[in-house]
Amino acid sequence: MKLSSVDSPWRFISKKARIDAFHLSHIPSTPCPNQVVHTSRYIHAGKAFTLYTLLVTCPITNQHWTTHKRYHDFVVFRQQLSAFKSFSNTIMVPVVEKLLSVQFPKKHWFNLTKNNTKSVSERAAHLNNFVWKLMEMRTEMGLYRHLHHLEWPLFNRLYACMEAFLEVPLFLREMQFCQDDLDGDCVICTNPQLVPGVGRVVELPCGHSFHTECIFDWFRRQTTCPLCRANTNRVIALYSPASLPKVAARS
Ligand SMILES: [Zn+2]
Ligand SMILES: [Zn+2]
Repeated sequence: MKLSSVDSPWRFISKKARIDAFHLSHIPSTPCPNQVVHTSRYIHAGKAFTLYTLLVTCPITNQHWTTHKRYHDFVVFRQQLSAFKSFSNTIMVPVVEKLLSVQFPKKHWFNLTKNNTKSVSERAAHLNNFVWKLMEMRTEMGLYRHLHHLEWPLFNRLYACMEAFLEVPLFLREMQFCQDDLDGDCVICTNPQLVPGVGRVVELPCGHSFHTECIFDWFRRQTTCPLCRANTNRVIALYSPASLPKVAARS
């Protein structure tokens, strides 16, 4: 994103907050898995449309669920996102900019009235990628909010708007974001659990904790705690190092 000195949305916020906002908008993103998107054709009020069944994956727990959306639902959602850009004195602008910059199929990209299988699958791939990026950003924002003790109504509204669109299940919405140092080793990789300034740790309902990357791989194969074998693939808390800087809250 290019920042001009005159119109920069950053001019209202401090240098420190600017750095952190930039960081939030440039989170390292993992490529979207090339998963199959099911599509179904329907006719409503004489008009045909395609319903996309998209898989949403939590980047922390690897848990996934499906959401059924029309292309039009995405258009409306992106309009909602755009509305947040007008609040240019907040940290949210780069977040919204980033989401809106994710490649998105144009409305009249192709003629959908013909049942063009190739075009529908291309559109499905873009929508799938959009959902992936959105879920990544939602998780980053949740963590960011708690790390910086943010209670900005607008930030929370944007966050809630994203969760609603993604239909994030309740158990994931209840996941706590914490800032702390933990003792002990991660039994999956046997490395120290939390090195200050590096890495993140998740806590399972049984109370055992592991690196996010380690448990992510583990949950691909099984849904038990690697330590006590309690049956769960639910994460109750995500910890980030206490040494991360804080940002003063602004409205
Ligand atoms: Zn580990
Ligand atoms: Zn356990």
